[in-house]
Amino acid sequence: MAWFKRQENEIEAPNDGTGKTVRTEGLWTKCEGCKQFIFKAEMEANQMVCPKCGRHFRLDARGRIAQLLEPGYELVDLELKSTDPLEFADFKRKLAQAQAETGLNDAAVNAVGKLGPHPVVVSASEFSFIGGSVGSVVGEMIARAIDRSLAARHALLIVSASGGARMQEGIASLMQLAKVSAGLAQLDDEGIPYISVLTDPTFGGVSASFAMLGDLNVAEPGALIGFTGARVIEQTLRQKLPEGFQRSEFLLEHGMLDAVVPRKEMKGYLERALTFMRAA
Ligand SMILES: [Zn+2]
Repeated sequence: MAWFKRQENEIEAPNDGTGKTVRTEGLWTKCEGCKQFIFKAEMEANQMVCPKCGRHFRLDARGRIAQLLEPGYELVDLELKSTDPLEFADFKRKLAQAQAETGLNDAAVNAVGKLGPHPVVVSASEFSFIGGSVGSVVGEMIARAIDRSLAARHALLIVSASGGARMQEGIASLMQLAKVSAGLAQLDDEGIPYISVLTDPTFGGVSASFAMLGDLNVAEPGALIGFTGARVIEQTLRQKLPEGFQRSEFLLEHGMLDAVVPRKEMKGYLERALTFMRAA
């Protein structure tokens, strides 16, 4: 088999004595959709959507909020920290690492501001923080966002990107899903709009609770949304799953979502929806 394998993976630098190397790493990124190399700056200018094939890449929580809200918004509720209640193996280290990498205390960012003319409260998941997992802190942050919505009677927007409940916090994580769902029922009683925006990926307890409880459940194109992974389902059912299963377009077709909206049109879409809901 060695015949077919390249023994040397290194591309040799030209031996012209200049010792010059061209640094291109970090400037380009390969799109997983169309396999083309895209200039990173171009991708960022295009809201992290591939300019060639339209594939939506993940966006961090702060970037998401900046994209949706008018300038002058305020980030809030960022001071809470997880206490590692179960002393779960390696959790403290993972938490510290995620905190150092993201500059956040946990996997969500709350903000108050305006979306177009509408004052709103936003809670956005940070997927790069332990998979956007919902533990006691994220649950409490969403609960506080709900409280802010209730107090000011401003619409609530939750942008999800999460693997689900945080296993390292055990039952304390699962309880957050019930707590948040109860809070959302209160918003419903008060007639305050709640819009859920599901982005890639939205899984587990998050898709099984608050992400699907919006007055409107809107997803980004191509987002993977489900309860458990396709491989686990296939192995359990011993059946091949249909093409595109768990993608937002498939879920829209099967009545699980209200709309699939491209990132560029999302803000305008949400603004129109809020105008409509406020008038109703
Ligand atoms: Zn592409």
